[in-house]
Amino acid sequence: MAGVWIIAETREQALELLGAGRLLAPEMGTALTAIVRKAAGPPEDYIARGADEVFLLPELAPEEPFGAFLPVMEQEAKTASPDLILFISTARGKELAARLAARLNCGLCSGCTALAFDKGAGALVMERLAYGGAAIQKLTSSAKPVVVTLPPRSFEPAQPMDGRQDKTRELPSPPPSAVRIIEKKPKEKVAKDITEARVIVCAGRGFDKKEDLALARELADALGGELGATRPLTEEMHWLPEDLCIGLSGVQVRPDLYVGLGVSGQVQHMTGVRNAKVVCAVNRDENAPIFPLSDFGIVGNLYDVVPKLIAELKK
Ligand SMILES: Cc1cc2nc3c(=O)[nH]c(=O)nc-3n(C[C@H](O)[C@H](O)[C@H](O)COP(=O)(O)OP(=O)(O)OC[C@H]3O[C@@H](n4cnc5c(N)ncnc54)[C@H](O)[C@@H]3O)c2cc1C
Repeated sequence: MAGVWIIAETREQALELLGAGRLLAPEMGTALTAIVRKAAGPPEDYIARGADEVFLLPELAPEEPFGAFLPVMEQEAKTASPDLILFISTARGKELAARLAARLNCGLCSGCTALAFDKGAGALVMERLAYGGAAIQKLTSSAKPVVVTLPPRSFEPAQPMDGRQDKTRELPSPPPSAVRIIEKKPKEKVAKDITEARVIVCAGRGFDKKEDLALARELADALGGELGATRPLTEEMHWLPEDLCIGLSGVQVRPDLYVGLGVSGQVQHMTGVRNAKVVCAVNRDENAPIFPLSDFGIVGNLYDVVPKLIAELKK
């Protein structure tokens, strides 16, 4: 037996993992299996979106964490010997992936941004960011299985296809977990989620004072977008909430348009912007590192340039 497995806690995760898995499984000449919670959606939906079979995880008692399924996953993986097991690299996904890899005594590649199968070598080729996003590390593995985590929103969610047959199996309930959920508190969100924004105007340290950020906000409004920031503005000056920080220690964004205002373009910031379709920069230093990484650049003082941009857009 072999196969590509995706293990997901939510439907959203499952669709992204299926998006990656359904590209890989045919290349590897193997089947795609979705292991999902029963409550996370009907199995036919996952089948329609590319899964060849669905293993349903039974409902847990409210105090049982998703990690309680680890012994069931281990047992199933030892029986079926999949080639590849994919998780989303959320905090819980990363932890679970590492624990499953340890139990299976196999390799783990975390934070993979690209995955391919080299048919000639019979090896999985994985890419991930290294040195704070300054380089891409390429890893190959012909050992099986391999556990891999994919950052959220790295792959397009799988869309439904016609004429696919349902093949579903219910997995057994896990033994009682030693870990218990005592309380659940939603993470406090003080800012909008910019990871979904189509247009982002990002304010950098080129702004002299907090009040001047109104200019960046006005440009974002004129473009129908959201405001983002570099880390100094969120962590050092505390002018904007941390949720708006883009980069290595903030969020990865993938807008159609990113406009950096007074942003120098250091690698730790630009790594969060690498999936933007069009990058524009306004910076008064013509040697700012952001310019070679931009599709369009304006060398100038943002306090002169931005009001003119807003006026033009309003026309
Ligand atoms: C481990 C680690 C993780 C990090 N993670 C992140 C991260 O996730 N996100 C992040 O953003 N940073 C991160 N950083 C910090 C990062 O290295 C940079 O220091 C930061 O991105 C710089 O922010 P900035 O471009 O706003 O400021 P600066 O580098 O100070 O650049 C300001 C720019 O504004 C220009 N400017 C000044 N005045 C004007 C004006 N009036 N008009 C036009 N241009 C003007 C200047 O020419 C300059 O290029 C991290 C650093 C480390 C070490």
